[in-house]
Amino acid sequence: MFNLILFGPPGSGKGTQSEKLIEKYGLIHLSTGNLLREEIANQTKLGLEAKSFMDKGQLVPDAVVIGMINSALEANSQAKGFLFDGFPRTVAQAEALDTLLSGKGAGISIVLALEVDQEELVKRLLNRGKSSGRSDDTDESVIRARLVEYENKTAPVASYYAGFGKVVYVKGVGGIDDIFQSLSRQIEARQLA
Ligand code: AMP
Repeated sequence: MFNLILFGPPGSGKGTQSEKLIEKYGLIHLSTGNLLREEIANQTKLGLEAKSFMDKGQLVPDAVVIGMINSALEANSQAKGFLFDGFPRTVAQAEALDTLLSGKGAGISIVLALEVDQEELVKRLLNRGKSSGRSDDTDESVIRARLVEYENKTAPVASYYAGFGKVVYVKGVGGIDDIFQSLSRQIEARQLA
């Protein structure tokens, strides 16, 4: 299995690049943000609980997202690999993911971390908010709360995987296709290794 984490702050281009990468490499896309928004659209109990956190720019509790990922892994047991987008967002989630994957004799192959500076992120998210229909993209104070959550709880996930030599940093500014080429080069270097 080839399992990739596309890592980076909100607005770093994970969603855009994920779409291109899953097509090129035949991976299953697992975005916890998308899964949570589906739960909200379906007005499930989980969705209603998650919404109160998401509206404030806070992370949803670990147990909720880990449970969702567990179900998604089970539902795709024949996959040749997964692309995790927006997950894991805490060290506890990363540890849980490692345990789930090792139960399948698999692990994380590479963590590609997109680097974009903070003010560019705010600008991109406000711009995305004009068309994304996402309420968490329209309010600058919610955007800044998401970036604070990222710094406090999610940035340590990169250090966690760096401890296993799995993190590669890629510049997340410039043309979409240029960034895609940089990501592809890193994946191919690992796949052939
Ligand atoms: P995203 O679409 O990845 O930007 O996620 C939107 C929101 O969903 C985040 O601001 C969090 O409130 C929530 N969320 C998504 N993924 C996770 C996760 N792995 N852990 C906790 N909360 C998450």
